[in-house]
Amino acid sequence: MNTLAIDIGGTKFSVALFEVSRMTLRQTHATRRDGGRAWMMEQIVGIAKLWKKDAGFQRCSVGFGGPVDFSSQRVTVSNVVSGWQEFPLAASLQHELGVPVVIDNDGNLGALGEAVYGSGAGCDPFFYMNISTGIGGGLIMGGEVYRGADSFAGEIGHITVRPGGPRCGCGAQGCLERMCCGMWIEEDHGKPAKDLFTDPAFVRNYVVDLAIGLKSVILLLNPARLVIGGGISKAGDALFVPLNAELHRQITSWSRARIDVLPAALADDSVLYGALALAESASVS
Ligand SMILES: [Zn+2]
Repeated sequence: MNTLAIDIGGTKFSVALFEVSRMTLRQTHATRRDGGRAWMMEQIVGIAKLWKKDAGFQRCSVGFGGPVDFSSQRVTVSNVVSGWQEFPLAASLQHELGVPVVIDNDGNLGALGEAVYGSGAGCDPFFYMNISTGIGGGLIMGGEVYRGADSFAGEIGHITVRPGGPRCGCGAQGCLERMCCGMWIEEDHGKPAKDLFTDPAFVRNYVVDLAIGLKSVILLLNPARLVIGGGISKAGDALFVPLNAELHRQITSWSRARIDVLPAALADDSVLYGALALAESASVS
């Protein structure tokens, strides 16, 4: 059984082919935000059709960088790329590719990928967040993605960390995503994120807001482990050492909830492996 796995993000998108659970093909390309949905669909379908002819696959699974209504298999909206509102992505790809397709939010699939194949193995409940163009999150409970009543569980990016702070893409003010995601920190500070994380003064301020968001997760859910993926997590110790110190400062010794925060083991591939795991668990065939 071969699976086509797709990760659609605001800065880049990736397409991979799994033969059973081994990744045998993988491509990543920059997202043209001004190209909107039409451009993205054309790119993905182009690659998929080539691979279908050459290597072949029998099912497809997609992680989308924005809210997805899992029950209807539609994208709800994207805050960074236009044209996705209420788009029936699974049905559209199924029509183009002629194989069963399942879609979910990239935060949920990052969580599932790390839980099954990465840093979250054996940890339950388990929380994953990605900090890249935006911020997403996902919760694994009882070995499954917890989606909530309306597929909006795990949306840690829109927890308020700065009441009255700057306006977020969701319309609220001072969201964690507005204060800490790659797209906004680059705009606010006029430098690429990877340069910002070499500046200890920037990181000291940055981890305060990030820890406020993570504290909510730790105290509400008491996860066995919390894993951070996405481009920002590549800052490594420059981020994780001060973040841990700040979490221990904000979460007092009153709480016995563990503070176990690690970078994603699958780096750029958490969502792709999560897509594979979803296809396997959903028995998409
Ligand atoms: Zn927001």
